[in-house]
Amino acid sequence: RHVAPNIRILLTSERVSQAVIAVASGKGGVGKSTVAANLAIALAALGRRVGLVDADIYGPSQPRLMGVEGTKPNAHEKQLLPVPTPYGVPLLSMGQLVPPDQAIAWRGPMAAGALTQLVEGDWRLQDTLVLDLPPGTGDVQLTMVQKHRPAGAVIVSTPQDLALIDARRAIDLFRKANVPIVGLIENMAGYHCPHCGEWSDPFGNGGAEAAARELDIPFLGRVPLDIAIRTASDAGRPPAAGNGAAGGAFHAIAAEVAR
Ligand code: ADP
Repeated sequence: RHVAPNIRILLTSERVSQAVIAVASGKGGVGKSTVAANLAIALAALGRRVGLVDADIYGPSQPRLMGVEGTKPNAHEKQLLPVPTPYGVPLLSMGQLVPPDQAIAWRGPMAAGALTQLVEGDWRLQDTLVLDLPPGTGDVQLTMVQKHRPAGAVIVSTPQDLALIDARRAIDLFRKANVPIVGLIENMAGYHCPHCGEWSDPFGNGGAEAAARELDIPFLGRVPLDIAIRTASDAGRPPAAGNGAAGGAFHAIAAEVAR
């Protein structure tokens, strides 16, 4: 294992002393936000004091996923106070700073400034921050790796070739910045039909695991394509917080990340 994500890193800003785990993907729609929310909850179930930072400026979905849509953080001496969620993981999100009906068309420097506000919120009570990055390799990602120095990065991809090619770019960004890659998660891996009982592979099979081997990074596990994950997420009830089968994959992955 290349990294112990629980190492405490002291950053230039003394307030930020947590292990920051950045969750990244090469392209959108692969389930990065879903994984970030459930990974945060599953790490908390392992005894960590976890906070969630939603830096996905193009589609901040954590307020909805975490069941706190429409809430706003208070501030104390210009520092944002994380909003409590029903799942024991407080949240700061781009979606709380920008009204949902406003198109988020910020320029790079504004987005990077907002990211800094979120990361430098009052996280004194947390030892681990899970950070949901926007997809791709733009300004927010660069600010993140250069200024906020995450302890490690988790990459989410579907088994599909296109998603994997983009994931490689994301991996390259972290490697060039000397941010350790905690590993690769394969999402939407296999579909179990509730009607006929058969398994199928809408986005292919095993692609991410093979790519992880080839790129010499740990493979952290796979999450199946599961209607229960989609419906629970839409309802603001992350599956990792319940005791249904859908949450199991996230707990297994959190155990790998914490190892
Ligand atoms: P991203 O953050 O990569 O853009 P999201 O986490 O927003 O992706 O997921 C995109 C959509 O796919 C959401 O509707 C989400 O509920 C759904 N989804 C994500 N992962 C799964 C899964 N394993 N099974 C079923 N639906 C999923």
